[in-house]
Amino acid sequence: MKISVLGAGVVGTAAAYYLARDGHEVTVIERHPGPAQGTSRSNAGLVSPGDATAWASPAALKTFIQSLYTPGLGIKVRPSLDPMFLKWCFRFLFQCTEARAKANTEIKLRLALYSRLCINEISQETGIAYDELKRGILYFFRSQQSLDAGARHMGFLGQHGLELEVVGRERLVALEPALASAAREIAGGVYSPMDQTGDSAKFVAGLAAYSTAKLGVKFAFDTAVMGLETEGERVTGIATSRGSFACNAAVISLGPESGLFGGKLGLDLPVYPVKGYTVTVPLNDPAKGPTMGGVDDDRMLAYSRLGDRLRIASTAEFAGFDRSFKPSDFASMFKTAKDLFPGAFDEAKAELWAGLRPMMPNSVPVMGRARYQNLYLDTGHGHVGWTMACGSGKFLTDLIAGRKPEIDPSGLVYRN
Ligand SMILES: Cc1cc2nc3c(=O)[nH]c(=O)nc-3n(C[C@H](O)[C@H](O)[C@H](O)COP(=O)(O)OP(=O)(O)OC[C@H]3O[C@@H](n4cnc5c(N)ncnc54)[C@H](O)[C@@H]3O)c2cc1C
Repeated sequence: MKISVLGAGVVGTAAAYYLARDGHEVTVIERHPGPAQGTSRSNAGLVSPGDATAWASPAALKTFIQSLYTPGLGIKVRPSLDPMFLKWCFRFLFQCTEARAKANTEIKLRLALYSRLCINEISQETGIAYDELKRGILYFFRSQQSLDAGARHMGFLGQHGLELEVVGRERLVALEPALASAAREIAGGVYSPMDQTGDSAKFVAGLAAYSTAKLGVKFAFDTAVMGLETEGERVTGIATSRGSFACNAAVISLGPESGLFGGKLGLDLPVYPVKGYTVTVPLNDPAKGPTMGGVDDDRMLAYSRLGDRLRIASTAEFAGFDRSFKPSDFASMFKTAKDLFPGAFDEAKAELWAGLRPMMPNSVPVMGRARYQNLYLDTGHGHVGWTMACGSGKFLTDLIAGRKPEIDPSGLVYRN
């Protein structure tokens, strides 16, 4: 089948790889001049089933409301009358019960664990190097109270297949010697040895190159998708800034823009952008940098070691499609990172970035057929899209082929 994949982020590129391996003739259509120039360009780098907890929860509800009137929190909400935003908030609030939080988390964890196997299979098959580290991730907490709460929450992941170890300060420093000087500020943590880290932009660039050379995937860059061409119940082509691309099927993987695009087609696809900030900085002294990924839970800061670079990420901000940033947006991230890893890097050398998480109200991505007989979705991966992309691509490829997916599909298949 001739399939157009819309969007060359990590999600679209992984789907294109699996579809091409399944014998399809695949063209990826992307507005940027290369792959991974949207959200997949510079995320925190965590391939982290350990971070699969859904955002919507009773605790998140409190933080969300608090953020409306408290500046300086890791979550920032710019109140807006945008109907898309209001609808998203309403649906998010509906997900903030204990029962919904657990159900959504279980679905995400199932996909994240599967996806971890998929990314490792791909990297073995293709040999793509992406500054990967398979040493686990440390989730740590500043007070005993937050450690207890964090261990309790993560315990749910432990009951559903994730290996976890609750660690005190001493064990934490043994696992991550770079945290030694900050350890007195840390009560303890949860170590997730199955988690790993890596540079998603490098991975996507490598996968796009491999898929082009070995699987015949075509990438149409500098090409903006404008709409679908349809005949009755079928999509027949993609209307773009460079003319029409005929196809027998299409996959929407437009990241944060998927909701807008889906809305124009009449789909119920509440993907909304949630902004975050990252810095990437070379390590002055590699020995002072972390040896694995980490999450400073109370400061809402995540980091990963990408070769001799440190990637730091923070903040969840509701600011529409605004991707702009200014130096002051990064001040508290730098302060926390310098406290954690004193002398490891020079702030002046940092590359600053902001991007938009493609967030569903329940944090669960959507895959499967939508509205037309040959239109498919693979989108809405939110805060863990790097973690879930490869598994999603394989899952969708199985659905398109009419095969039984390798994981339980409940909760993952789109229903309009
Ligand atoms: C600060 C931050 C930190 C994060 N940290 C992590 C992490 O540690 N681990 C993790 O798993 N996830 C993380 N994420 C989330 C993860 O990065 C995303 O979920 C993932 O990158 C989404 O991939 P995507 O392919 O869906 O979207 P994108 O990468 O945005 O790809 C969509 C593509 O569609 C293209 N496009 C859009 N509209 C059009 C159009 N009209 N025509 C043509 N092309 C179009 C865009 O240009 C883009 O290239 C983080 C996100 C942020 C913002």
